[in-house]
Amino acid sequence: MDLPKILIIYTGGTIGMIKNPESGVLQAFDFDHLLEKIPEINLLNCTFESTALEQPLDSSNMNPSHWATIAKIVEDNYKSFDGFVILHGSDTMSYTASALSFMFENLDKPIILTGSQLPIGDLRTDAKENLITALQIASLRKDGKALVREVCLYFEYKLYRGNRTTKINAEHFQAFASLNYPDLGESGVHLKIKERYLSRFSDDQPFSVHYALEDQIALIKLFPGITPAVLSCMCSSEDLKGIILETFGAGNATTETWFIEIISQAIKRGIHVVSVSQCSGGSVMMGRYETSEQLEAIGVISGHDLTTEAAIAKMMYLLSMSMTTSEFRQTFERSIRGELTEK
Ligand code: ASP
Repeated sequence: MDLPKILIIYTGGTIGMIKNPESGVLQAFDFDHLLEKIPEINLLNCTFESTALEQPLDSSNMNPSHWATIAKIVEDNYKSFDGFVILHGSDTMSYTASALSFMFENLDKPIILTGSQLPIGDLRTDAKENLITALQIASLRKDGKALVREVCLYFEYKLYRGNRTTKINAEHFQAFASLNYPDLGESGVHLKIKERYLSRFSDDQPFSVHYALEDQIALIKLFPGITPAVLSCMCSSEDLKGIILETFGAGNATTETWFIEIISQAIKRGIHVVSVSQCSGGSVMMGRYETSEQLEAIGVISGHDLTTEAAIAKMMYLLSMSMTTSEFRQTFERSIRGELTEK
């Protein structure tokens, strides 16, 4: 039987960085050197090829145009490979994973994002395990098909649904969490995939990429003491189409009249406003408290248990389609790629 063929796409991030000898600063370096650092990779039960972004970058420099470049590489190689491993900086990996999960329509192959906290050349690096296991997961087959057929993130022994993750730690090797959805697998003595939690978001139509994303959106994190001047300034950006409001706890916000008035005016101007929780775990429950009842009444959309990263990606994706306000709300409040838990 032919071995699964995996494409490694190197986009940048710590995994492939080296220290500039003069300044001591970590900088992206040539991808070929990266593979030289892990000869073990050739023992894997798959064949692989690799490609890299022309200019590998620290993921803090990523924007939607880079997501499109990555998606295009996948699209151009979709038929020739059985799976894809995307090496990415950890800082914005959850944003990229969320965006790709929406951009890929009818995905039928594994897309595994991974990276590391320490460069691959470092003695104590976490990069080798992350890359080798990500490749193994991308190679898993069942009944002649790929076992994993969604956008995932693999980091420090855990496989997650990409659009459920968030970076929670800049120090620990365990840098990511998926607090509102179970992990999809774990690497221990055995590599265990929890098949009951996997999903397929394809209805047997051909794979395609949805490139259009609307970037005229804002993320507003509430805090006790936010002033009317600041809030109204943020809501009055000329071409603004959508706002993600990071609310307190289960979706609560101040009931002060000026606050409700500014948000309500924005909604009346046709801006879609979605509430997500500032807590990494748990869900927005509109109307549970008096402090969210008014938001519901003025037409704020519930982001349920979406991560902020997934809410941003979903907003960009849905705003690029023409929909009525009620279609937008209904589509936002249901799961499209397993990104939220429907009631
Ligand atoms: N700053 C790096 C990046 O996100 C951090 C990492 O790779 O972990 O590109």
